[in-house]
Amino acid sequence: MNGYGGTILRINLSDGTIKKEPTPAELAAKFLGGRGFGIYFLYTEVPKGADPLSPENKLIISSGPLSGTLVPGAGKMDFTCKSPLTGGYASASVGGMLTAELKYAGYDSIILEGASERPVYLFVDDDDVRLRDADDLWGKGSITVEAELKRRLGEEFQIATIGPGGENLVKYACITHDFGRQAGRGGVGAVMGSKKLKAIAVHGTKSIPIADIDDFYARAKEMYKACKASELWEAWQRYGTSGVNAWANEVGAFPVRNFQSGALDDYSGLSGETMRQRIVVTDKACFGCPSPCGKYSHSKKYNVYVEGPEYETAALLGGNVGLLDIEDVAYANWLCDELGLDSISTGNAIGFAMECFEKGIITAEDADGLKLRWGDPEVVFALIRKIAAREGIGAVLAEGVKRASQIWGKGSEDFAIQVKGMEMSGYESRNAPAMLLSYMTCDVGAHHNRSWAITYDLEVGRDKISPDKAAKVIELQHIRPLFDCLGACRLQWVELHLDLGHYAPILKAITGIDRSWEDLLKISERVWNLTRMYWVREVEGFGREWDYPPPRTYREPVVSGPTKGKLVAWEDVQRLLDMYYEQRGWDANGIPTEEKLKELGLLELVRS
Ligand code: SF4
Repeated sequence: MNGYGGTILRINLSDGTIKKEPTPAELAAKFLGGRGFGIYFLYTEVPKGADPLSPENKLIISSGPLSGTLVPGAGKMDFTCKSPLTGGYASASVGGMLTAELKYAGYDSIILEGASERPVYLFVDDDDVRLRDADDLWGKGSITVEAELKRRLGEEFQIATIGPGGENLVKYACITHDFGRQAGRGGVGAVMGSKKLKAIAVHGTKSIPIADIDDFYARAKEMYKACKASELWEAWQRYGTSGVNAWANEVGAFPVRNFQSGALDDYSGLSGETMRQRIVVTDKACFGCPSPCGKYSHSKKYNVYVEGPEYETAALLGGNVGLLDIEDVAYANWLCDELGLDSISTGNAIGFAMECFEKGIITAEDADGLKLRWGDPEVVFALIRKIAAREGIGAVLAEGVKRASQIWGKGSEDFAIQVKGMEMSGYESRNAPAMLLSYMTCDVGAHHNRSWAITYDLEVGRDKISPDKAAKVIELQHIRPLFDCLGACRLQWVELHLDLGHYAPILKAITGIDRSWEDLLKISERVWNLTRMYWVREVEGFGREWDYPPPRTYREPVVSGPTKGKLVAWEDVQRLLDMYYEQRGWDANGIPTEEKLKELGLLELVRS
């Protein structure tokens, strides 16, 4: 199969069996790869009602047909499983080098099933695949273990690890790779921890078969040239996502104090320029990327090296908890990386706890003696450590803000900033209805990366509630996740405006299969609808209510900044959903119709 490793690796951690199965050509034709493979295996192999942290759940790791090739940014990998945070679909993507290495070892996916009794790590060196003892690595931090495995196995091995957060089944534990890149959301690290799998180490030396090598080289070169020629390239390389910090603050989208406001009075301590001047040591790229957005930083104050803080971390562990010094945020970032926690959910959980403290819903007694005041770095660091260890108040926050608000009650549900049980990432959107709709309808919960529609709100009018906003969200929900099926980064398109017209022809040069861009979008729509059907199958009573935003969105106006006084009224929340469902071909409860499933070739699959 041109463009593919050709083999699926199936590891049963309960009995230690290792199987190699050919990658089915029909699967590649229908779901492409990456998250497409992930949802297919999740839907068809994990039994209905499985406990996400039981051996019945599977962790599916997949590259895509572009992964490991010379397509710019072809270094994305997907981790799919049933989410312990939401009880629904989880898919988290990570950059770095692992996806290319997996393809070079000859594999498209690794399916991890069952659970080991003792800590192990997965060793893959081309055809040599083994589970190895990891007793001495258990309990150690993600970054520490990555360095240790590279020392033992060789620099050429690419490693993904969990930290103590994953071992302790924190519901939003992440998987770390390449010294600070994360498969962050939905608790994929907790699922890996439940299987007692500490790490994955992969090395490969094979090549990827390419259908038309000359055409491929010519097209890849053209794409690189276009990236480098972009007038946006220099700023993107200089700041990476930290360039968004100032912009988000200026437009009132930067979450402050648990999303009470969308702007800091003075954000200078967190700006991309401050970060560049004070802590950035060098730029860092994923495999084959011409536009390195990774910033490798050193905090002199805490003497730690960390990748970042990128925008989301600066937002959630900065403004959202009141930390205004980039070095404090960098250390909080490092703690999350080492302990294996998603910095978005962690910052959201801490902000939630601080607001509960501010409102008197919890006291220092509930917080192990800590006074949870905004902007106290030592309190933030202590809470991160407690969450990873599930110690004291950390055991409550480790469950995520939805469950924490159910435990603490007293109206705290209104400002638990989550959708479907997943904490919202870093865009306050009470004056950005398309962005809000993106969060409401995202397939994993309140995550930004499926549809970053806030720029569309700014472009066409922030107060406007109109069908074109729903259409834009749907369009983005097909384009952006398509990159996660292909196994490539979307940021060359988003940030450098690389023409989307490059992708179908280069995919043809790689695989030999001729598909139009519209064909590819149809595959993405198929994947989107199957993820929706997974929620329908797994969550009793799933429907419209699961797409509702946090009550703060429609009950409490923004308290300060350029969007002061704004909210999205309850009737407008309903209108947005009506427009979205109608355009998607779903019923009024948000369930894909039989007709839609038929159109996408999913009817048999969901009925079986
Ligand atoms: Fe990785 Fe950033 Fe390059 Fe994308 S743009 S491939 S995330 S370094």
